[in-house]
Amino acid sequence: MNWKIPLADTDLGPEEEAAVLAVLRRGWLTMGEETGAFEEEFAAFTGTKHAIAVTNCTAALHLACLALELGPGDEVIVPSLSFVATANAVRYTGAAPVFADIVSEDDPCISPEDIAAKITERTRAIIVMHYAGYACDMPRILAIAQQHEITVIEDAAHAPGATLDGRALGTWGAVGCYSFFSNKNMATGEGGMLVTGDEELALKLRNLRSHGMTTVTWDRHKGHAWSYDVIDAGYNYRIDDLRAAIGRVQLQKLAANNARRQKLNEQYLGILQELVPGVKIPFEHHRGTSSYHIRPILLPPGCDRRQFMDAMKRAGIQTSIHYPPIHQFTDYRRGDNSINLPVTKIVAAGEVTLPLYPHLSPKEVTTIVNTTRAALREQHMR
Ligand SMILES: *Cc1c(COP(=O)(O)O)cnc(C)c1O
Repeated sequence: MNWKIPLADTDLGPEEEAAVLAVLRRGWLTMGEETGAFEEEFAAFTGTKHAIAVTNCTAALHLACLALELGPGDEVIVPSLSFVATANAVRYTGAAPVFADIVSEDDPCISPEDIAAKITERTRAIIVMHYAGYACDMPRILAIAQQHEITVIEDAAHAPGATLDGRALGTWGAVGCYSFFSNKNMATGEGGMLVTGDEELALKLRNLRSHGMTTVTWDRHKGHAWSYDVIDAGYNYRIDDLRAAIGRVQLQKLAANNARRQKLNEQYLGILQELVPGVKIPFEHHRGTSSYHIRPILLPPGCDRRQFMDAMKRAGIQTSIHYPPIHQFTDYRRGDNSINLPVTKIVAAGEVTLPLYPHLSPKEVTTIVNTTRAALREQHMR
């Protein structure tokens, strides 16, 4: 499809090209000094002690679950309104994801009340997901977790650069996981990052990232080590220096790009309210500073979403759904079929995501909103 306005787009330029070329010319492609620098810079940026780069956010989530020693018999509370990786990572360990509802149509992040209601004596952890880069209610969620002595993992795939009370999202829980997939706020192709303030967890995560080995090839290349032991059943979840080099440049650009997203989001809010009063706009008011990863809207009840998205498509505008709820997927319905998440159900049925990326133009935002209005009119709705 040749979209006039795609849903998301990368911001890659001469800086990324130069960074990749430098790595190529150096001749060391796998995890090495570029990755080390990327980790240090990301740790400093998020204000945390340890950052561990990995091959993608799904691997990060898996390693987080492993480092917390989750396994068969354990339950982990997760949102259903998320990308499937949030729950899959739990299943990789043999633990069971338990789905919690979201707060409201205005705040489609995981509900602290429903988290509390879903806690059993088997609950070992909670994975929160900062939907669209807007903060979950971390003070309340951490208080609940503390009270029940369970751990919090943050799926911060949407949220690099986002904060709550001045503290980076991803650094509130025990471990935070970020994604650098091509459509995320920082793009390296595949790529991800773990952050933690806990030294012991950081060591464990590093070790599990690379086969459970006590040293990596880079250490031996540098002459810092000559052999290794294997102390855990680890994985190969390493990033490489080519991607790390792109990531370092993307991190430099992140603040400015998130600021552009913020401005476009403000424009969206203003003209959506004015021109399309029938749609609901999640996160119209929200605490903290978002990374404005995506712009969701909720179509009016009775609107045919497929028809709406087709009308947008005919105008060359790509839209998407965030998300088909995880608990309704075939492979998840094999488990508990009685799950009832009323708010998730409403949002998941009516949500459509409009394009948002740093170099989207204000004129294009106007076009998108006007097309939204026309598409709803086709269905006699506004
Ligand atoms: C993109 C995404 C992931 C997975 O990230 P990858 O880097 O593609 O593995 C996980 N959770 C959420 C919420 C995401 O949006």
